[in-house]
Amino acid sequence: MADKLQIAIYWGAACGGCDVSVLDTNEFILDVDAAADIRLWPIAADGKYKDVEAMKDDELDLACFNGAVRNSENEYIAKLLRQKSKVLVAYGSCAYMGGIPGLANLTSREKILDTAYVHNASIETGNKVVPQPETKVDCGTVEIPSFYRRVYRLDHVVDVDYYLPGCPPQPDQVKAVLLAVVKGELPPKGSVVGASEHAVCEDCPRSRNEKKVSRFYRPWEIMADPEVCLLEQGVLCAGVATRSGCGARCPSSGIPCRGCYGPLPGVVDQGAKLASAVSSIVDSKDPEEIEQILDGLPDFTSFAYRYSAASSLLQRSHRP
Ligand code: SF4
Ligand code: SF4
Repeated sequence: MADKLQIAIYWGAACGGCDVSVLDTNEFILDVDAAADIRLWPIAADGKYKDVEAMKDDELDLACFNGAVRNSENEYIAKLLRQKSKVLVAYGSCAYMGGIPGLANLTSREKILDTAYVHNASIETGNKVVPQPETKVDCGTVEIPSFYRRVYRLDHVVDVDYYLPGCPPQPDQVKAVLLAVVKGELPPKGSVVGASEHAVCEDCPRSRNEKKVSRFYRPWEIMADPEVCLLEQGVLCAGVATRSGCGARCPSSGIPCRGCYGPLPGVVDQGAKLASAVSSIVDSKDPEEIEQILDGLPDFTSFAYRYSAASSLLQRSHRP
C-alpha cells in the first residue's frame, strides 16, 4: 500500500462541482487511479470516517478538501484530515475563500433556517420543523451536525498547505497539483497554485479604452460589443480585481468574470478592490448623479463578494 500515493478527497459545504472537476481530468484520472489509493472520497466511493480515524498521523500523502466549513461535521473532518495528511490542499474557491456558501455570512443563521424551514411555501403547515442538532425519538436520540452561525474558510479552522482556486479548478491545475505531489516537487507552503500573479484583465482579449460609464446594465439588458471590455460597456466584470490562471475563460466567452480565482496577490479584500475599480469608471463628478449611477448596480455586495464574503473585512468574527 505504501508504494502508492495515499489520497483523500472530501467535500464540506460545496455543490459537488469540485468533485466533478477531478473527473474532468478525463483519462488522466486513470493514471491517478494507477498511482494512488483513494482512501476517502464520499461523493464517489464508500469510505468510513472510522477508517480515517484509525489511520496513523501523516498516513495520507495528500488530502484535497473542497467546500467551505459550514457545520460541525465539516470542521471535524477538516481537523481529522489535517492530522492524517502530509499535504492538505484547499481545493476550489469555497475551501480557499468561503465561496458561494460564504454569501450566507451576509445574513444570519436564524434567517436562513426560517427561510428554509418555516416561511417556505413548499412546506405544509404543521410540518414546519427547524432541524436541531439533537432530536429525541422513540428509540433514542438522532444527531445531526450543528449549523454554525457563519461560514468559514478551510484555513480558519486548520493549517492549509496549498490553495487551488477556481469554481471549479481547471483540469490542468488539478493535474499539475497531483503531478507535483507524485514527483515531490511542491512549491513553498502557502502558495496559491495553478494561478497567475496578474489580473484576469491582462489575459482578456477584449480591448480597454479607459472609457467611463454613465449607466450599468445586467448582462441580458445590453447587446455588448464582443471586442470591447465589458466593464467599460457598463456590465459588471470582476476581472480587474481577480487573479488569473483560467485564461480569462468567462469574458472570452461573453460572460463577465465573477471573481472565482480570488484576489490578486497582496490584496486583502477582493470586493473592496472591485468597488474601487468600479467607482473609478463612473462618468460624473456630481455626488447626486454618482449616487444615481451606482443605484443602477444590482446587489453590488453579493457580486463583489460572490466568492470572498467569508474572507472579507465585513465578515463576522464570532464562532461557532
Ligand atoms: S474588466 Fe472584464 S471584460 Fe474588461 S478587460 Fe477585464 S476581464 Fe476583460
Ligand atoms: S474568468 Fe473569472 S469567473 Fe471565469 S473562470 Fe476565470 S476567474 Fe473564474
